[in-house]
Amino acid sequence: MLEEAHYYFHKAADVLDLPDRIREILLTPLRVVKVNLVFDDDAGQLQHYQGFRVQHNKMRGPMKGGLRFHPTMDEDHATALASLMTWKTAVVDVPFGGAKGGINCDPAKMSARELNVVTRKFVELTKDIIGPTTDIPAPDVNTDARVMGWIMDEYSKYAGFSPGVVTGKPLHLFGSEGRDEATGRGVMVVLGEALKERGKSWQGIRVAVQGFGNVGANAARLIAEQGAKIVAVADHMGGVSNDDGFDIKALNDWVQEHRTVKGFSGGDPFNGPDVITWDVDVLIPAALEDAINEDNVNEVKADIIVEGANAPTTPAAHEALVKRGVFIVPDILANAGGVTVSYFEWVQNMQQFSWQKERVDQELTDTMRKAYKAVSAVAEEFSIDMRTAAFVLAIRRVGKAAKARVYTDEEIRL
Ligand code: NAD
Repeated sequence: MLEEAHYYFHKAADVLDLPDRIREILLTPLRVVKVNLVFDDDAGQLQHYQGFRVQHNKMRGPMKGGLRFHPTMDEDHATALASLMTWKTAVVDVPFGGAKGGINCDPAKMSARELNVVTRKFVELTKDIIGPTTDIPAPDVNTDARVMGWIMDEYSKYAGFSPGVVTGKPLHLFGSEGRDEATGRGVMVVLGEALKERGKSWQGIRVAVQGFGNVGANAARLIAEQGAKIVAVADHMGGVSNDDGFDIKALNDWVQEHRTVKGFSGGDPFNGPDVITWDVDVLIPAALEDAINEDNVNEVKADIIVEGANAPTTPAAHEALVKRGVFIVPDILANAGGVTVSYFEWVQNMQQFSWQKERVDQELTDTMRKAYKAVSAVAEEFSIDMRTAAFVLAIRRVGKAAKARVYTDEEIRL
């Protein structure tokens, strides 16, 4: 996965004609931490998981990035995703650097007590490198507001009351209005910009969504509210389609109760992976990496892809899609709504002051539109695709900050 993240970086660095020395400075993570989480499970058996935190770059501010609890989590994943966070925070111009981490556990197979113990152990072993002005975790796959609340509590035992150490917290524990749906709202806003740019309205637009968790479900709901039709959704259990467009509220209620879209009676079942090649105008991959790959890219029918997930498109698939004229709004722009409202949450925590939801939504919309326009302008400047443009914009911003903070020579030409 690291190789893939580096592929896009180097493509953009080529556009900027960056020397190798500067590439190495910008690509190398500051710190890679691995911790061993050993504990007794509910049956009294000793369990052993590994936790990771990779801090990639802090030139633009405290490092920021989610925690993923998933069996595939490892150093390579954390490092690749941490670098994406550096570029993502730069694209939306929030004053943060990039980090990422997680634990190689499967929460679906753990009790709440076990999850609580593992989370607290992770904080105990990383407390010296995280903090409100150094590195601020957030939710990612399989972590939610509850887990963030535990992190705040555990960290505060060592450092004193510290709501700003983590974002995505419960609303009644210094969380922010609008954070839970922020990534999905950002996806909706950038899709709206892409449609506007093409002279299209929301009406009649058919959308397929892969992954119906935090990002996918909120994006689907907000996009349906604009007037587009969600006609196919899928998750790790299976897919369901409805050519007339789903009753999104009924679908969300089903998923709340059953933790999957599978079995929802308001549509027809299909084999989950087929959602990628569904006959739609817009495809939103909002699950895991590499969903669009060499095996299915030639069957993709959507004209627009908005990447709700991180790294859902392999480099080879990206090149094939761009060649065919498919318009991709890349992850580091499309799913940056989450980190944007995480920034708003952190601001509120530092000021001990709460914003109304209307303010959060408006500031998020403004930030996403501004970022979309900035990326679009770079794409036009160099006649490049939106992903390469987003990386160019981010590398310029991070590089300029690095130059201003650290370097005395003129080597960073940006
Ligand atoms: P989540 O755990 O809430 O939901 C994940 C969804 O993906 C679930 O519906 C799950 O069933 C589905 N899924 C998992 N494996 C699948 C598979 N093999 N095929 C189809 N579906 C599968 O996670 P989330 O927070 O919604 O994150 C989804 C993606 O968005 C991740 O790539 C994450 O890094 C990215 N992201 C999340 C946020 C955020 O604020 N939560 C922000 C930016 C990016």
